[in-house]
Amino acid sequence: MTLQPPTHERQELAYRVFENILEGVIVCDSELRIRMVNPAFSAITGFTSEQAIGQTPRILSSGRHDPDFYRAMWETIGHTGHWEGEIWNRRRSGEVYPEYLSITALKDEHGSVRHYIGVFTDISHRKLSDHQLHRLVHYDSLTDLPNRETFRQQLKTRIVRARTNQRRIAVLFIDIDHFKSVNDSLGHSQGNALLQIVAERLKKALREGDPNRLPDVLARLGGDEFVALVDDLALTEHAALVAKELMQRIEAPISLGGVNLHVSASIGIVVYPDSADNVDDLLLHAELAMHHVKQNGRANQQFFTQAMRDHVKRQMALRSALHGALERQQFYLLFQPQVVASSGRIGCMEALLRWRSPELGEVMPAEFISVLEETGEIEQIGHWVLEEAMRQCLAWQTHSSSPMRVSVNLSARQMRSGLIAEQIADALQRIGLPAGCLELELTESLAMDDVNTTQRALESLHDLGVRIAIDDFGTGYSSLSYLQHFYLDALKIDRSFVHRCTENRHEREIIRATLALAHSMGLEVIAEGVETEAQRDFLVGQGIDLLQGYLFSVPVDADTSTDLIEQYNGTTDSSSPTCD
Ligand code: C2E
Ligand code: CA
Ligand code: CA
Repeated sequence: MTLQPPTHERQELAYRVFENILEGVIVCDSELRIRMVNPAFSAITGFTSEQAIGQTPRILSSGRHDPDFYRAMWETIGHTGHWEGEIWNRRRSGEVYPEYLSITALKDEHGSVRHYIGVFTDISHRKLSDHQLHRLVHYDSLTDLPNRETFRQQLKTRIVRARTNQRRIAVLFIDIDHFKSVNDSLGHSQGNALLQIVAERLKKALREGDPNRLPDVLARLGGDEFVALVDDLALTEHAALVAKELMQRIEAPISLGGVNLHVSASIGIVVYPDSADNVDDLLLHAELAMHHVKQNGRANQQFFTQAMRDHVKRQMALRSALHGALERQQFYLLFQPQVVASSGRIGCMEALLRWRSPELGEVMPAEFISVLEETGEIEQIGHWVLEEAMRQCLAWQTHSSSPMRVSVNLSARQMRSGLIAEQIADALQRIGLPAGCLELELTESLAMDDVNTTQRALESLHDLGVRIAIDDFGTGYSSLSYLQHFYLDALKIDRSFVHRCTENRHEREIIRATLALAHSMGLEVIAEGVETEAQRDFLVGQGIDLLQGYLFSVPVDADTSTDLIEQYNGTTDSSSPTCD
């Protein structure tokens, strides 16, 4: 048996509970007149006990529930003596809020109701966060569009439906071009505003649902990436029309913060069931197609093709096979001579990287250099190339009667590190090669990449005495006058010009003009990809300084390179030659 406190103490305790609990308590008589409320009631509803007592609970009515709702509630109380549930009420301020309410009928010994007690908690806080949580989980807060997960769910359902109806679905992957630069130049909030505008425009281009078909779906995957699901396509080609419409809408001028913007997008398209039949593949393929558009100049649309997937697979295979390839000594260098036009001697050898992979066989640099650049491994491997080439160059000196240079290709990543000049100075000293024996080949785009860093690095390299050549000249956008701002020693005319120079007048004119201008700037000019005697004769006639190409030699291994040097330049006296 539990010991009960005396009656008066129990009453006092009950009263203190009534006064202090956080739930609102309301006591009505059988006529539903309010007889008592506690302080929590007043705190939640805004009515003081004086204002509430004598009134009916109708003062709290929100108007959100119809008479049927209350009828059902009172019926339940009539039958069971109890009801509980969520209900919308109104505070004195007029604000409508949800509460969790339980009502109990208190009966006397004859079974008739004497009082009703209502106990309630304000759940507007919880309600709001449930709602927020729902939005957070399923929608993108910036644009109010469905998010990735919601899109995936939708797509999954639509695929099932399309399979039954034998219809097509298109998934369009939309990425805004150069969004980053808008964000960087106009600021984050303007960037967000742009995304909202684009979201609105895209939505307008898509179809709403009707009784016969479900609506198209637009979602934001994150950043500046949107994805659209276009349902019920009769023909695959219709997807291209939708993409065109999306593009046109995006491309209409946008005024943002006083600036007029012209925005474009790259759109990748994939169609179910033509080229994928599940959510993952559809999204992946659409994204691949989008990347393809980006790589080919942006502001366009493109359907996914199997070749795109094969390319990605190959890139992945390369990436994993390249990992650790340097440590496993899978790289080696070949050398291709550059012949001095005036003397017919070899003046320089270009070092060309090769990779022999146990899994993939011989892989050419055109394929793997870009992968190394992406992964960042090019820095370490580029450094290895430099040292290896310098060592080889030192070895050549004793086999040539005139100084021999080595020419090494540099990648953008190596340039950007900012340490290139120091690393090279250190390596030259360690190996004991005069700086003038080393030439670095940079592409134009590389030089444009980060002009300040490049300029500084080239200045330090120039001070060291290392020579700098611009590679593949003519393929980029830079002009010679622009390149004047850099410390340069030579230009290599791209082999595409050399290749066509004998048939094509236009190419001949370009070569002539380049030579004249380069010489007036004090630059040496090298022609690469010289394959025929006709090409050589034309170039020599124009005053070219150095020639490189299959006509003289393909790239050869180190031993053969030494043989070539002996053959062209002959061995001479013991006095060690130096590069100028
Ligand atoms: P590149 O610097 O323009 O190199 C010249 C490319 O043309 C070489 O291809 C060479 O084998 C090829 N070639 C030489 N003579 C002829 C010819 O008469 N006709 C034709 N059609 N082609 C000729 P390779 O070795 O496959 O190199 C491709 C590119 O890879 C190079 O272009 C260079 O940009 C890059 N690369 C090569 N080695 C390295 C390296 O060590 N580091 C970096 N960063 N890039 C490298
Ligand atoms: Ca080169
Ligand atoms: Ca080149």
